[in-house]
Amino acid sequence: MINLQNIEKVYRTSTIETLALNNINLHIRTGEFVSIMGPSGCGKSTLLNLMGLLDAPSAGRVEIGGETVTQYRDKELARLRNQKIGFIFQSFHLINDLSVLDNVEIPLLYRKGDASGPSRRQLAREALEKVGLSNRMNHFPNQLSGGQKQRVAIARAIVGQPSIILADEPTGNLDSAMGNEIMSILQQLNADGATIVMVTHDETMAKKTHRLVRLFDGAMVGDSVLMSNA
Ligand code: ADP
Ligand code: ADP
Repeated sequence: MINLQNIEKVYRTSTIETLALNNINLHIRTGEFVSIMGPSGCGKSTLLNLMGLLDAPSAGRVEIGGETVTQYRDKELARLRNQKIGFIFQSFHLINDLSVLDNVEIPLLYRKGDASGPSRRQLAREALEKVGLSNRMNHFPNQLSGGQKQRVAIARAIVGQPSIILADEPTGNLDSAMGNEIMSILQQLNADGATIVMVTHDETMAKKTHRLVRLFDGAMVGDSVLMSNA
């Protein structure tokens, strides 16, 4: 589903060169739930951004759902991203002056020739149902708890029915009860077929996934299957 081969990422500014990823080889199969851990600055977000087609590697090959994207232009990257990938962030990234339902509908607006207004609303309602927030559709983000905001963000990530969900510290801003709630939702989405890659600092959350990849200083230093969950 996600295949990274000999990936290198160098950030260059006029004065500094940072090797953020160094010869990464990682193959994630359909239906896996993978966590990525490592100290701050080791390249986790960079890796997730490459998988999400938000940034290009300096060298190496990125393959998503069988498509090698090396030669793709922005338009083709955007198409593949909209079709296949949903993103969840630590800080939710909701739009405060749109209702919950409107926030969840946003990704559908970028899909050409797709759903009409009423069917977009229907899809958004279904996504909110999956995260247990049907009773907050007409609220605004600042009327919700952190855990509820993250559930809205998950609904927004899944409204287009992506096969891949990329989550950058989805429980990082939540207390452990809310974090556990979010993990249960991700586990359910995974059980329903989504391939999930999650960056986390929290061993407890990582232990609930199938596989733990560890990064250090831009390199992969660990890749273990968590037998009890796989
Ligand atoms: P993590 O998510 O593990 O904290 P990042 O992927 O954000 O790590 O960063 C990896 C390395 O790349 C760090 O040394 C960071 O300072 C550097 N870096 C990240 N983004 C940029 C950027 N846009 N320009 C320059 N350096 C960057
Ligand atoms: P995260 O939110 O995942 O922790 P950030 O995007 O805030 O990651 O940045 C991670 C690291 O990358 C930080 O150390 C930050 O200073 C560095 N970084 C981000 N953008 C740039 C940039 N444009 N130039 C240099 N360093 C950057």
